[in-house]
Parts: sequence; C-alpha cells; structure tokens
Amino acid sequence: MRASRKPVCEDPMDPAFTMICTADFAGLLRGKGVPSADFDRRVAGGIGWTPTNVQITCFDSIAASPYGALGDLVLRPDPATRAAVPLPGGAKVAFALGDISHLDGAPWECCTRGVLKAAVDRLREETGLELRASFEHEFMLRAGAPTPAFSLMGFADHAGLAEDIAAALAAAGIHPDSFLREYGPNQFELTLPPAPAVEAADRAAQLRAIVRMVARARGETATFTPLLAPDLVGNGVHIHFSLWDRAGAPVSYDPAHPHGLSAAAGAFAAGVLAHAPALVALTAPSAISALRLTPHRWSAAFTNLGRQDREACVRICPLTAREPAGRARQYNLEFRAADAAAAPHLALAALIHAGLAGLRAGLPSPVPTEEDLAALSPDALAARGLGRLPATLDDALAALAADATLRSSLPEGAADIYIDHKRGELAHVAPMAAAERFAAYAAVY
Ligand code: GLU
Ligand code: MG
Repeated sequence: MRASRKPVCEDPMDPAFTMICTADFAGLLRGKGVPSADFDRRVAGGIGWTPTNVQITCFDSIAASPYGALGDLVLRPDPATRAAVPLPGGAKVAFALGDISHLDGAPWECCTRGVLKAAVDRLREETGLELRASFEHEFMLRAGAPTPAFSLMGFADHAGLAEDIAAALAAAGIHPDSFLREYGPNQFELTLPPAPAVEAADRAAQLRAIVRMVARARGETATFTPLLAPDLVGNGVHIHFSLWDRAGAPVSYDPAHPHGLSAAAGAFAAGVLAHAPALVALTAPSAISALRLTPHRWSAAFTNLGRQDREACVRICPLTAREPAGRARQYNLEFRAADAAAAPHLALAALIHAGLAGLRAGLPSPVPTEEDLAALSPDALAARGLGRLPATLDDALAALAADATLRSSLPEGAADIYIDHKRGELAHVAPMAAAERFAAYAAVY
C-alpha cells in the first residue's frame, strides 16, 4: 500500500531544506532540517536524535527522563512521507516523517511510528488481519465573524483558507473526503479516506501540521485543542477503523447480525471498550481532554458501543451502500474518545492492542446502547458492564498504569516513560488557573 503513495515532490531540491520529523509523545512534529540535496543520503544514514527529547512536553518543559543527558539515536526519514508544502505568501516547507532507532538499527522503544508498526505486525501475526483507519479532525479558527453552523456563509467566509489547505494537503498526497463548517463557533472538520494504519496516522500528523502552518501563514490561527473553553463543544478526533483479511477482503461486516457487526469486529470493539479507561490516557491525553469527554457534548463519556449515537465511545457508522459487497467495504467503527493532543501513531497502536486483546480473548460483541446513559445511575451502568471514562488525565494515567495487558503490549519501558511524560505535563499546568490552562493548550494545539 505504501508504495502506491503519490510522489509528492516534483523538484527534490525545492525548497533548500527538508525537515526530518518524529511525531512525538506530545503529538507534535519535531526534528531537524537537512539540505534537500542530502535527503537521499539521510534516508540511509539518518540524523542524530536525543532520547530525552521524547520527554519534552507540549509546553517544552522536560518531564522525568530515564535517559537523562545520555544516549544517541538515529532518526531516519521515510521518503514516502516527504512533502514540499506550499504556504500562502509563497514559501514552501518540506518535511518528512521518520523512524527512530538505536545506533545498531534496532527500533527505539519510544518511537511512536515504530510502536505502531509493531502493533500492526502483532495484529497480522496473531490474526492475519489488517486494520484500515481514518482520522476525522475538528479544529477552530480563533478569529472571524460569527456564522451559523454548517452554513454556506461560514464556508464562504473561509473559502481562501480552504483553498490554501487543499493545495498544501495535495502537495503531501492527502486528498480530503470532506471539509465542513462544524457546529462549534468557527469550527471546521476535515475527514480523510481510510488507509492502512501507519499511513493513516502519518496523514493525521501531517494534516494537523499543515492546517496550522497554512493558517499561520495567512495570519490566522487554527487550533485543534480538545476544548477551547469549558462551556463549548470540543474539537474531537474520531478514529474510524475496519478490519481486513490477508486477501484484502473486508471482515467487519456480517449481514446476519442485527447491527451488521461481525464476530471479529465485535470482539475487537469489546477489547477497545474493556481497555477504554487506560486507552484514553493515550488517545485523549491533555489535562483538559477529560472535560470534553462528558455527557451531552457529542463526544464520548461512557465505555459503550452505540449505533446512530454520536455520544458513544465506539460508534457503528451508518451504511449507504445497498449491495452486500459495498456494505461490507463501507462498514466501519468510530472511536470517538480521542483528540489532537494525542500522538496519532501511539493512539492507533494502543487501539490495535486493545482490540487485539479482545480478539485473543474471543470477547462477545458488545450490545449497542440506545439511550442517554447520563440518565442511568452508576449501579445501573455497572449492571450492564458499562462505566464512565476517567474524569481526569490523572485517573486515566492510573488506569493505564494498572492495565497490565495494554502496558505490556507496548515496547518494554515505553508505557512508564509515557506516563512520566504526562505527569510532567500535568505538573506544568498545575499552578495555572483554568482560563490560563485552556489558553495554553489552545496555543500549542
Ligand atoms: N465536537 C464533537 C466532539 O468533540 C463531535 C461532533 C460530531 O462530529 O459528532 O467529538
Ligand atoms: Mg464532527
């Protein structure tokens, strides 16, 4: 699949530098620039990288690091991801995503792309299945006259931005499925077609960076922050996924099931829900993320499967195809408890491991809920095997620390280092008043 990526650079020497990036624990792209003329040499040889960089939080504080000032790593760009992106005003920014390894070439435990590749391999080895995914992103513009939700006016007011985003994404080989003026104030949504897992996460990382860069070059500010203010709807990242067999046939759909859910996809979804409290430490991992995951925000608040329910943690998405083969290809589930503070590769890797745990255990398909779960008491929820998602990042980190399955599915040491990273981020925002905290995340994401 990856070989089919469109070549994205007509002139490999334009612009002069290409930045080799890692999509890091903070969900940001960081790296180093090299002369574009040297890019091919860097594909083979890479560039030096420092282990403790992974503990640089989204606020540039450095969380507790087991590496200290010691160690050397190599960051090697994947040429399939190199994009030279045109920005409004005429500048071009070239960047590529890379993989971090030890000096001997062994994958580094905290390389998010490597963690995802290992998850994909594990799923394939154990089950013969592949996961295809698509990240659906919401973001808000910080300025602009108020316009009605979903309105042509709202779309037209930002048509120039939309054109510039489309051109920049196209240069990265990314072609949106849809672009819309979402419900929140100056909120927009970009969806992408499904792709194999690593490519889907790459595109998510590229898309966020590209939208922010394009908006900044226009003198505007786009933010993917999970929640701009406590009383607003949030900016979600919804991760759509489906399972496919080795022969490339879709296996998530079973027309005999009342909701079309195959046994494999049902077991996978059950695993995701069983591990959801720990998962959100990786998928919705900012200090303000849990506030978005509260009832009646159309995000996700409980560990439930839902059909035609935009507050479900995992939603069975609607089908429009009529014939069985088309329905099978279209059938997908949507994990809604994610946001753009997450490292997309890490979030998808954790989702795969949680789903794989469900497949391994042969968990029965969850029964979709059909009512407002916020109206149920904790006891009534528990009687149905449902619970609330963690109320704070601290609680989610505790759930991750206690989830032996999820922790041990990540490379040795990675979960503990990640937990320390997030605790460092929490320590950074702890002295802030609420308004300052929201502003800080809006500025970073
Ligand atoms: N803004 C909602 C969220 O935070 C999603 C709304 C929707 O697209 O259904 O996830
Ligand atoms: Mg939306």
